[in-house]
Amino acid sequence: MSNHTSREIRLKNRPVGMPQASDFELAEVNVPNPGPGEVLVRNSYMTVDPYMRGRMVDRKSYVPPFQIGEALTGGAIGQVVASNNDKFKAGDIVQSMNGWREWFVSKGADLQPQQMIPNTKLGDYLGALGMPGMTAYAGLLKIGELKDGERVFVSAASGAVGQIVCQIAKAKGCYVVGSVGSDEKAKYLTQDLGVDRAINYKTAGDLNTAIAAAFPEGIDVYFENVGGAHLQAALNVMRPFGRIPLCGMIDMYNATEPPPGPNNLAMAIGMQLTIRGFIVSSHYDLMPQFIADMSRWMKEGKMKWRETIYDGIDRAPDAFIGLFKGENMGKALVRVGPDKAV
Ligand code: NDP
Repeated sequence: MSNHTSREIRLKNRPVGMPQASDFELAEVNVPNPGPGEVLVRNSYMTVDPYMRGRMVDRKSYVPPFQIGEALTGGAIGQVVASNNDKFKAGDIVQSMNGWREWFVSKGADLQPQQMIPNTKLGDYLGALGMPGMTAYAGLLKIGELKDGERVFVSAASGAVGQIVCQIAKAKGCYVVGSVGSDEKAKYLTQDLGVDRAINYKTAGDLNTAIAAAFPEGIDVYFENVGGAHLQAALNVMRPFGRIPLCGMIDMYNATEPPPGPNNLAMAIGMQLTIRGFIVSSHYDLMPQFIADMSRWMKEGKMKWRETIYDGIDRAPDAFIGLFKGENMGKALVRVGPDKAV
């Protein structure tokens, strides 16, 4: 028995439709002292991400499904508390996929040392400077082949990925319109992030009309985070040779029946569109370039972000469910341990 008791969140049931608090359970486990070659880590923050919903379904995908009764996994950042491994020492900041828990012991191979950029916080490396930021960067610049001054539409625009997409596009001198689910989020886009126009899709009425009105000259790049009616409406307004990086389709993640497809996909033929799905993990070769560009944009005051932080591992299910209810502004994070010194 060690001195450390770790709380963790396990999957209790496979959610049907919108996930419920009762689909999760909080458990306590004893964390052993690290053995030879092992490292004891205390997490500071864990991330909740929409893709985790797909892992709660028992089906083959690009990541294996979570198992009932087992602790969930996902991105986390924390600090080494004790180490019997030459590659790590106490105090090192490390990222891992051992989220949804407070403490864990690792053999080291699954830990990535985190270099901190000056004036950043631990949680930034799970958001703007981590996987979601990288998704925005690779999706917009590589998959979307964005060119300076183009017309860009972004859905879920105030979220972890969307808020970075909007600002990269603005840094490239683009005309940018974001779609969001509240007036507060719309204000964040236009007042804080310099987005040209924001559409509150919950109050805008017909989305076809709202998007067409925001793009009198059409859309060059639609950064797709939502799917459904957003995709259908954007397709109608695409310019010739437009690109649609398919990043996510959160509108269908909780669907219990197959949702209807867009009935206007043939627009892609006449407009000679490129519609391309991507998974961020295939593009980590861009990491040095991403960090260099983000650091520059931060220095130039062209890059900022928000987080919604839930306190305590017991809040992790709420944080996760909140993604599908639009409760997060910017990146949703869960603080599960101390920020700095352990
Ligand atoms: P967000 O931080 O954007 O959180 C999700 C947001 O989506 C909510 O806050 C909500 O904002 C919006 N939303 C939820 N349900 C709906 C709905 N039915 N219709 C419209 N909007 C909805 O999440 P991320 O930035 O982490 O992820 C954004 C998208 O990117 C997701 O689809 C995700 O799966 C995808 N993704 C893909 C990756 C890849 O490698 N391809 C990697 C990372 C993310 P609002 O209030 O505005 O509705």
